[in-house]
Parts: sequence; C-alpha cells; structure tokens
Amino acid sequence: MAAQILDGKSLAAATRARLKHEVDALVQRGVRPGLAVVIAGEDPASRVYVRNKTLAAEEIGVRSQLFEYKKDVSEAEILQRVAALNANREVHGILVQLPLPKHIDAARVLEAIAPAKDVDGFHAANLGALLAGRPGVVPCTPLGCMRLIEHAGVRIAGSHAVVAGRSNIVGKPVAHLLLQKDATVTICHSKSRDLAAILRSADILVAAVGRAKLVTAPMVKPGACVIDVGINRLPDGKLAGDVDYEAVKEVAGWITPVPGGVGPMTIAMLLENCLRAASREKPAS
Ligand code: NAD
Repeated sequence: MAAQILDGKSLAAATRARLKHEVDALVQRGVRPGLAVVIAGEDPASRVYVRNKTLAAEEIGVRSQLFEYKKDVSEAEILQRVAALNANREVHGILVQLPLPKHIDAARVLEAIAPAKDVDGFHAANLGALLAGRPGVVPCTPLGCMRLIEHAGVRIAGSHAVVAGRSNIVGKPVAHLLLQKDATVTICHSKSRDLAAILRSADILVAAVGRAKLVTAPMVKPGACVIDVGINRLPDGKLAGDVDYEAVKEVAGWITPVPGGVGPMTIAMLLENCLRAASREKPAS
C-alpha cells in the first residue's frame, strides 16, 4: 500500500494561522514581534530562503527587517550589526542566513547572537540546553520534523529512529529530539559502514545528508515513517530530496515530499520561535 503523504505545506499553513492569532494577542499586550534577518553575499538560494522567511513573517504580522551585505563585508561589520540587534528591544528574533562568505567565521557570528534572540537555535547555549533537556530555542528544521511525525500520529517511544546526517543544525538536534521522545536513536554519517542495513532497521528514518535520492526503496523498512530533509538541485533544475520519493512511497508508511514537506515547516517553526521570544518580553507600560 502506498505511503501516507505528510503534507508539510498544509500543516505549515495551519501553524501560521494559529501563530497569527498569537501575534494579535501579543499586539493587544503592546508587543509587536520583530524578526531581523542578516544576509551577506549573493547566493541565489539563500536570497530565496530569506525572502520566503521575511514574507511569511510579515503575513502573520511579525515586523521583519532585512540587513543585506555584499560578499566582501567584514566580519567586524556583521558582528557590529548583531550587537546592535541584540540591544534593540523591538527585535525579538535574529537570524543570520548561512552560508556566510568564507572569510567570515560563522561560528563566531552565531555565538554573538543573544541566546534568547537566537530563533534558529544554533547558539551553543541553545544546543547545550537541548542536549541537557532544558528549556531553550530548538532549531527550526528539527522541530519541523518532529511536528510532522507527531501530526501523523506515528509512535515514537520505543521505536528505532535512524538519522542520516550529523550536522549541528539538522542531524544532531533531530536525533536528540527523537531521544527525548524515547526513541532508540542511531545517527549515521559519511563514514558509517553499511548504511543500507542501518537505514532498513529504522521505524522512523530522517534523511539529512544533501545527496539526491541517496535513500532507495530497498533501504526502507515496509511501513516506516520517512522524513526527507534534503534539498538538492538536479541537473534539469528540479528539486529532489535525499530520498527516492517515487519508489520509497510504495514501501514506506508515511513520507514527506520535496518540496512541500519539511521546508515549509522550517519557516513555520522559525515564526513560532520568534513568537516565543517576543512573548517573554514585558508589555510596554
Ligand atoms: P551538512 O552538509 O552540514 O551535513 C551533511 C551530513 O551528511 C554530514 O553529517 C555527513 O557526515 C553526512 N553524509 C554525507 N554523505 C553521507 C553518506 N553518503 N551517507 C551518510 N551520511 C552522509 O548538511 P545539513 O546542513 O545538515 O543539510 C542536509 C540537507 O538538508 C541538505 O540537502 C540541506 O539543503 C537540507 N536542509 C534542508 C532544510 C529544510 O528546511 N528542508 C534545512 C536545512 C538543511
């Protein structure tokens, strides 16, 4: 039987509608949520992501500001901007779009963001909080993956969850979120031996590698929940995930499409993180 499609587009739309009500309530309290986005360089994909994020913010009533820099901007200039945004009471969320130009130390920039305003959840303080099971800002894409799995009603506790990819922004945090929900978690990476066998043992499989159609049908356990985080541009210009969608959907129990799966949820979770940050602000007197 073909898999149930986990429609991230419609879940994200429902999430944004709920968040819009929360924005209205915050505005009533005298707080207009504010998001600041910093981008450096001319990477076309990053420009599209940033535009989608600021548009989505505006649509639900979050005030968004975009700070654009040329690719030769200095690290000091970016750090200065971050410091100014940290001090700005009208800004509740700060997002620095990655990748930054090579001469800029991305880790130093991310660490300069005030953890409470780090709506991407990439600051070491927030990643540490996640590891320790303490309150903090959870990275958007991993949070979006969890919402999709939970919305589908997939049983997480006791299941074997396999995460392919160990980046700080997707693989590691999503593995920890699954662990928090009592899954038994395996993380695979580029040096893992016999990836196919490990993936095939997964009840929940999260692919976050960045290799088009790496996960094929024989690597998937029948009935598994397959979450495809990958976004890969094919030679014909089309987008593909890390999963061979057409073949795997005949084997899996649930599957996310690319586009229209994890991507829209990432943006919705960014807005949610921004609202959480804004709701901590004391109302204007
Ligand atoms: P990354 O390059 O930082 O990490 C890739 C990981 O995959 C590494 O840990 C590496 O060890 C592992 N890997 C590489 N080759 C492998 C192989 N053959 N087998 C197993 N593991 C292998 O990437 P990232 O930033 O985590 O992003 C991963 C993918 O997710 C990319 O396609 C990216 O565009 C996409 N992404 C999507 C969203 C979204 O909103 N949908 C958000 C972030 C990233």
